Amino acid sequence: MSKRDYYEILGVSKGASDDEIKKSYRKLAMKYHPDRNADDKNAETKFKELNEAYEVLKDKEKRAAYDQYGHAAFDPSMGGGGHGGPRGGFHAGGAGFSDIFEEVFGDFMGGGARQGSSRHGTSGAQQGADLRYDLSITLEQAFKGHQSKVSISSSLKCDDCNGSGAEKGSKSTTCPLCHGAGMVRTRQGFFTMERTCSRCSGAGQVIEKPCKNCYGQGRKQGKRSLNVSIPAGIEDGSRIRLQGEGEAGLRGGPAGDLYVFVSVKKHDFFKREGATLYSEVPIPMITATLGGSIDVPTIEGGKARVTIPEGTQSGKMFRLKGKGMSQLRRSLRGDLYVQAQVETPVKLTPRQKEILKEFSKLSEKANNNPQSDSFLKKIKGFWDNLTA
Ligand SMILES: [Zn+2]
Ligand SMILES: [Zn+2]
Repeated sequence: MSKRDYYEILGVSKGASDDEIKKSYRKLAMKYHPDRNADDKNAETKFKELNEAYEVLKDKEKRAAYDQYGHAAFDPSMGGGGHGGPRGGFHAGGAGFSDIFEEVFGDFMGGGARQGSSRHGTSGAQQGADLRYDLSITLEQAFKGHQSKVSISSSLKCDDCNGSGAEKGSKSTTCPLCHGAGMVRTRQGFFTMERTCSRCSGAGQVIEKPCKNCYGQGRKQGKRSLNVSIPAGIEDGSRIRLQGEGEAGLRGGPAGDLYVFVSVKKHDFFKREGATLYSEVPIPMITATLGGSIDVPTIEGGKARVTIPEGTQSGKMFRLKGKGMSQLRRSLRGDLYVQAQVETPVKLTPRQKEILKEFSKLSEKANNNPQSDSFLKKIKGFWDNLTA
């Protein structure tokens, strides 16, 4: 028995548009649907025929192959030209037509149709989730840049199936519901809606034999360590994105990203503001008074000498140019500010006290403490005004 022409089955001309084909299919599928023609073998055959024809003519490539080679394009036993058609072909019966039917009528048939299709078991690829890793580094590490080894527990790509979820030797095949598009169109009244294919979850591919190692997931829970390069000059609260280092994708989907949130620990000596470092340094009263020099620590681990001029007051800032933080992608370093905190001597011996008392006597008319003197004058005026 020779096969009927697909255009004839669908009742359309050879040059029919996709829309015409779809419309005609809808009409005829409603007419011959087995639910409406119980026990009518003829209707069932017609319905199968209809679905077979529609599956070919709705697909641009299959339709082109059919136009060129006829039925031979899809059936190797027909001989000749078979290679032009899609390999493996398609099935007119079985799951095939109910899928198409669902695709075309979709929500019109109610949710049941969709739930039915998900029972086919396999579904498609999904991107893995993004992961967050909190990394705490020292200010010195932020200054120099740092290689951090981080260990993360997450879903890893399955080695057995190389993440595809399909057992070795078995292939995933084009999803029979969406024909690889990953999206399915449904029409409801005047509206055409597009939604992710329920059979393959948008992957366009379905797995025939799931991998035994990962149960077809393409990924397994595990631990993995990787090196994270922290650039010199990184700021506290920065986020480093490592593309593709997140959770492995589901069934061959792309991996998510790993975000490393970097926090820089507080430092004992240095406060940081961008590229500038601040440090408070106690200075003995005598050094502050007579002048001298002190050594201050620097972020690179060395020290720098700061000259303290005679009469240095507490709170005085000394700027050390280029001794501050490194900057991201810049060779220029910031500055280091050293703030003097003049220390009042404690635990004096009687002799020391004696000398200071003598010193104090000598200071009475010497204007050694201009700030204290002027402050005293100011508050005197304040008190005088109060009593006036
Ligand atoms: Zn696997
Ligand atoms: Zn699909």
